[in-house]
This record gives sequence, C-alpha cells and structure tokens, in this order.
Amino acid sequence: MRNNLIVLLVLVLLTGVVVVAQEAGSDTIGDDFYPRLGNGGYDALHYTLDLHVNMRSNNIDGIVTMEAEATEDLSAFNLDFFGFQIGKITVNNEEAEYTRRGRELTITPAEALISGETFTVMVSYAGEPPEQQGMAFSGGWTNYGSGRGVFVASQPAGAALWYPVNDHPLDKATYTLKMTVPAPYVVASNGFLTDFTEDDRTRTFTWQNNEPTASYLVTVQIGLFEERTDETASGIPIRNYFPVALADKGEEVFSTQKEMLEYFETVFGPYPFAVYGSVVADVDLGFALETQTLSMFGRNAILRNSQSVIAHELAHQWFGNSVSLATWQDIWLNEGFASYAEALWIEHTQGDEARDTLLRRWYTFISQPRFVASEVAAPGSPPPNQLFNTSVYLRGGWTLHALRLQVGDETFFDIIRQYADRYAYGNATTADFIRIAEATSGEQLDDLFQNWLFEAEVPDVPELGLNS
Ligand SMILES: [Zn+2]
Repeated sequence: MRNNLIVLLVLVLLTGVVVVAQEAGSDTIGDDFYPRLGNGGYDALHYTLDLHVNMRSNNIDGIVTMEAEATEDLSAFNLDFFGFQIGKITVNNEEAEYTRRGRELTITPAEALISGETFTVMVSYAGEPPEQQGMAFSGGWTNYGSGRGVFVASQPAGAALWYPVNDHPLDKATYTLKMTVPAPYVVASNGFLTDFTEDDRTRTFTWQNNEPTASYLVTVQIGLFEERTDETASGIPIRNYFPVALADKGEEVFSTQKEMLEYFETVFGPYPFAVYGSVVADVDLGFALETQTLSMFGRNAILRNSQSVIAHELAHQWFGNSVSLATWQDIWLNEGFASYAEALWIEHTQGDEARDTLLRRWYTFISQPRFVASEVAAPGSPPPNQLFNTSVYLRGGWTLHALRLQVGDETFFDIIRQYADRYAYGNATTADFIRIAEATSGEQLDDLFQNWLFEAEVPDVPELGLNS
C-alpha cells in the first residue's frame, strides 16, 4: 500500500488504553502496469450519473451517486476524478470531507465504514471536462465542432475525466445515465433508453445499463442523430445512431452487424449482452471503440464502409467487454482477439484464401527487422506508454491463429467458447487463457504462447510457408 493514512482511534477506557486501527482504502486497485488506476477497499456496484450539459460552453453540471460495498473497514477511500469544481460530497447522506491530488479524490466519511457494509457516495460537481492526461490515455469527454456533438471514448482511463469512478476494469458496475441536453440534441448511451422527457428548451434521456461494465466502456454520445433499428434471428435488438444526413448510408453500411453477430455466436458462443448497436459521431475519427452494447465510430467509418472495423468492435463485446482484462498488460486479450475476429469474418464471407492473404500481410508487417528490434515486438508485454501498438493487434491475432494451427479447428473454437463462457462478465489473464487452452486441448502450449507473446523473434509458420 502507498500513500495511506492510518487513522488511529484511541479509546481511553477505565481499564487501560485500547487502540483500534482503521485504515484508509488503497489509492490503487493493484494493477502494476498502471499503478495510479483504480482504488481498493470497496466494490462499486452501481453508478447513477445525472448530468446537465451545456453544448455551447461544454459545461457539465453533475450529480453522481455510487453505491458500493466496503470490502474492508474504511476510515477513508478514494475515487479517481480529475478536474471540475466539486460542490459537495456526502456518504450515506452525511456530508463528508475530501482532499484532491491529481486523479485521486480521497473521501473521509463522517462515520467510518465497516467491511461488508453497503454505502452510498454522492458527488456534485460542475465545470468543463479536462483535457486528456498523459500516457496512453484517451480523452474521456470530447465536444467536437463547437457543440455539434459530444463523444466519450475513455480507454484505458478517461472515465475519471468526466465522472468520479473506480477507474479500472477490475471493478465493473451497472449504470443509470440521466442526461439533460438542449433541444433538439439526442443522447445515446449503453443499454436501453428507459425514459425520455422534454420541454421547450431541454430534453432528458435516461439510459439503463444493467450489465456489469468497465468504466472505460461507458459512453455518452450527444448529437443530431437518427435511430435505426434491427434485430438478430436470436432476438437481440440492434439500435444504431447515425448523423441525420448520413442515416440512410449508415444503415446500409452497418446492416451487416446482424449477420456478424449471428456468425460470431456460432464461433464465440452466445452474445453476452441484452442489446447491441453502433453510434456514429458526426466527425472523422482515427479510431473506433467497443463501448459496451453501443460501439462508437467516426463518420469516416460510413464513408469508407469499414466492415473490418465493424466486425472488430462487435467481437470486443465478448473479448474485452464481457471477458475483461485484469491488468492492462494483457491488452492482447482484447485487441488480438478482436483483430483475429476480423480475419474470421473474412474467412466466413470470402473463404480461407482471403483470410490467409490477410494473415500473410500481418505476418510481413510484424516480421520486419526494424519492428522485431523495437520495444513493441512482443505483444504480451507492451510498453505502458504504447499500449495500443500494432503488435498487440496483429501479432496478438496471429497468436490465436498459431494456436488454431496447432490444435485444429474443433479444439480451437472449443477453447475460445470455453474462455468466453468461463470468464463472462468478469476478468481474465493471459495465464487463465493458456490454462483453458491446455486443459481443453490436452497439449503443453507453454512454448507456443511464450514464443508468440513474449519473445521478440516472430515464430515461423511452416503451414503457410512463412519464415521470419
Ligand atoms: Zn480493438
């Protein structure tokens, strides 16, 4: 533990002196890869965000309530929260004291919390969301085009840039988002729209997300959107939000999601959530993000008909969102799987040769001498400041194909489905995946994973005639 205050409650009794020690919760959740993220001592259960947004000034007036369970006796505890002006903080309806230092908001409740106790924290705040903060961190809340719209993309740790949160996938929670925006803006978010009210000037959208969600996968999208809906054969509703002017074209480009979802269910197992869909921000973006149940894209995804990216973000709903990493070092468990899903979609729609053509292109890229010599070569141990490097995507994806070539199709997809099922709605590590792969195949796979994930040199693939 670090930076912890030890609060000593000294009780002087007639019979002597009894010292009861009650500690503050840790200011880290224990991910050595990014030690500043998350906090210990409690388990966040549900967040309610009630935000009023001024689109022109980009000002947020917010009240955020977190219901949580103390996992130890707590004299104080931390949330991750950056920027804004805090109005008031209460714990169990009693005003609490707090201090702030960088991302760390330390709250000292009037009464200490007892391990196992469920408690409610309320934070009121206002101001303009702060800019992105260093490292590989993405930007949280972004108002684009001077109020044309807002998107929220927070991987890996941008949630703390717009609401107070235990900002790490190890502490997933459910969410209610109540957003009040000026008319005629539309708000899209995770889960289901459960309430809508409006008056002459404002509109209030309430979104309910009842499935455990990592904080970086929570999104709010504000814009002049048109909703288009669909449904899979298995009854999963799909709702998409497109900029009004691009709605017809968007519907056409994203119409493949239904068939993709049905296909991925055959290879990954049942879709893990109650709803899916995509939202397209009315701005060109150099990325897309698998925000839970509502993947987000820039409008260039429509204009370029980015089918591989659409498949990639959908596959993340199984790998990354339902099964989340436990440490950011294992990012290949997200990106390698989602990238390989692109290859699977090509295999499904265009055949094995088209898949192999893609895999050969990836192999050529990752085996370039300069790439092999670089610090990003091994996807299992990315540099913390280059989390989303090409190796975690392409060589991470290749790791899965190498496994498939080793164990055969039937066993491979069995491994993938067992992994998705065993760790659904929770967290997994690289070691967990290897354990399932070995148990299911009955093979020793240490060498395969060691060579593909942790050595700089790219292994040969004789099956495809590939030598690095
Ligand atoms: Zn991805």
